[in-house]
Amino acid sequence: MKRLILILSLTFTICAGAQQTGSSPVQVTVIRAGALIDGKASAPRRDQVIVIRGDHIESVADAANAKIPAGATVIDLSKQTVLPGLIDSHTHIFLQGEDPAHGGYDANILTAPLAMRAARATVSARRALEQGFTTLRDVETEGAGYGDVGIKQAIEAGYIPGPRLLVVTRAISTTGGYPLEGYAPELEMPKGVQIVDGPVEARKAAREQLDHGADWIKVYMTHRSWVGKNGELVSQPTLTVEELRAIVDETHGWGRKVACHAYGGIGLQRALDGGCDSIEHGLDLSDAVIAQMLKQGTWYVPTLSVYFTDWAAADTPAGQRDRLRASLHEVSFRKALKAGVKIVFGTDMGGIPWTESIAQEFSRMVEFGMQPMDAIQSATSRAAVMLDMEGKIGVVAPGAFADIVAVSADPLRDIKVLERVEFVMKDGKVVRDK
Ligand SMILES: [Zn+2]
Repeated sequence: MKRLILILSLTFTICAGAQQTGSSPVQVTVIRAGALIDGKASAPRRDQVIVIRGDHIESVADAANAKIPAGATVIDLSKQTVLPGLIDSHTHIFLQGEDPAHGGYDANILTAPLAMRAARATVSARRALEQGFTTLRDVETEGAGYGDVGIKQAIEAGYIPGPRLLVVTRAISTTGGYPLEGYAPELEMPKGVQIVDGPVEARKAAREQLDHGADWIKVYMTHRSWVGKNGELVSQPTLTVEELRAIVDETHGWGRKVACHAYGGIGLQRALDGGCDSIEHGLDLSDAVIAQMLKQGTWYVPTLSVYFTDWAAADTPAGQRDRLRASLHEVSFRKALKAGVKIVFGTDMGGIPWTESIAQEFSRMVEFGMQPMDAIQSATSRAAVMLDMEGKIGVVAPGAFADIVAVSADPLRDIKVLERVEFVMKDGKVVRDK
């Protein structure tokens, strides 16, 4: 009985302790912004005061009219341009730009223990955050199972620093539709995705992934690509429309969306006919495809940069394919931009080593005709709409999470300054200052 009383009193003390922390005063922070690109408005505003209470933005006002709450911590960014935390909607924290000289993609799956891959993923997540990317839609773990759900939980619980993550878990393709491949047919090789054949298996895979924490479902609608007889880009289609519809129907039923990797041709047509919410890469968009995307409201995440580097030698079939892919990609991007397709910033980081700049994609978008403000909105408010987080992320406005970055020059004049983010705040906490 004595022991019971002791336990009871201990429990009481712990509860009381927890209650005390719960009622501690909420941190109030004020940011003085020299210029504010709020993520949504078409022009910047000068001399703004942003009041942050806890993890949220409480108010944004002209410095002349702003009231600084008593006891607030003031952060002076009056010489800088302040923007919302950036959003990369196509990353792979479980890839590290694997060097073919060191075994490439296959070695990562065949030799790295999962704990090793998780450890490296935590570094990728931290790098993204330090570069000002406070939200990632991470589009599959490449053979690391549900590891992305674990990393997301570790970030949310405060064990490791990282962006807010929207994860897809394993992703889905068909037999013959994903590596590892090229091994003796007698060997049962692990795959970088969950393989399905037939609508029943497709729906079951979507159910499993959603059940285990997928925020989105990712489907590969094309796989290999090569230069065809008439010099055209051919992309091997994977899922049938029937298989994809089963996945889309299931995922939409859960209130979630489907991202589809698709280059062009039959696979891309099936992706649209099957109801994909976002087209990833979209290297080869015909006028008819663009018209269908506009009609269906399909998002386009072009991931340009990754296709413009690391080409194979020009005199090889792979090298010719790489060059054709890039040239078609530029034309597709320009056409989609002109037609008013909803373009969202994505990089395929992980395919690119995480030591490189994520924001390099902005320069490529601007080079291909996008206005700098449009490019910034593709990585802020427009991405937030695609991610069903409008008003919560991608904007510096009352009610949004206090995800805020700053740069030392005007990104509307030189978009490259976004590659040198100096200040990063996530959820009201400063994670980088210079
Ligand atoms: Zn990717």
